[in-house]
Amino acid sequence: MIANVNYVKEVMKDLKAKKKFGQNFLIDANVVDKIAGIACDHDLTTIEIGPGLGALTQMLLKYSKNVEAYEIDPDMYQLLTDNLKDERLKVYLGDFLDADLSKYQDKVNVCGNLPYYVTTPILFKIIESGLDINRLTIMVQKEVGDRLSAEVGSEDYSALSVEVQYLFEVRNEMNISRNVFYPAPNVDSAVISFRPIRERDKEFEVGFFELVKNCFRMRRKTLHNNLKDLYDEELIEKIYEKADLDSKIRAQQLSLSDFLNIYDVIRGYKNEG
Ligand code: SAM
Repeated sequence: MIANVNYVKEVMKDLKAKKKFGQNFLIDANVVDKIAGIACDHDLTTIEIGPGLGALTQMLLKYSKNVEAYEIDPDMYQLLTDNLKDERLKVYLGDFLDADLSKYQDKVNVCGNLPYYVTTPILFKIIESGLDINRLTIMVQKEVGDRLSAEVGSEDYSALSVEVQYLFEVRNEMNISRNVFYPAPNVDSAVISFRPIRERDKEFEVGFFELVKNCFRMRRKTLHNNLKDLYDEELIEKIYEKADLDSKIRAQQLSLSDFLNIYDVIRGYKNEG
């Protein structure tokens, strides 16, 4: 079993955990088994981000049809491919942010104990790649989990929360103590799952997500200030009137349905022109 404190400590004697890659390894087999049970289906491929020594990979294999894992660190890649041999496992060496996800045409599960430094870009990549996601299950620092389900008006409400809430039902599956990792991080974590709530529509999403990001471009500025470099004044007036918005409103005060209304006005205007 890879999720084992003695094994992980022994291996990491020679290899120092690399902070720059956010390396904290799971050492509790029961916790890992539970996460994999939530994340996988026996008839689907699971894509894993950051397999590291393979603690989670090993359990994902138990519950999945096959596993495709992306690891950035050559040392981890070498150890993993030497130690975990299974014809249902394919490991790619490289940055997940550069991975070509267009090759996955069928429904997939996605899972990872995500490195903190790159959690947000990884989530944007997964969401915006258009992957046909059956379930996305990630382990993140607890505060990041809170951010993903942040409500309108809260400090943590962001473009990522809007995109996530547009596409998924977000659940906090369990909280995880820092003590099930080696080396132990300074904070506790949470396992968050995302289940799709609507059919994917690539063309709609590309424009809609771009709008959402533009609205949050400068958080402290009003919506009007964020839009004025992008659209002409006539369209902006229409947006405020049709979406019934206060002139001083900021992006973090807009609900998902406000964003959808704004996008509707923009699309209507473009079609008229
Ligand atoms: N999955 C293992 C576990 O739970 O024990 C390791 C988790 S550790 C928090 C994060 C892993 O992601 C490390 O192995 C690290 O090298 C890898 N990683 C960091 N940045 C990455 C990136 N951009 N693309 C792919 N892997 C990355």
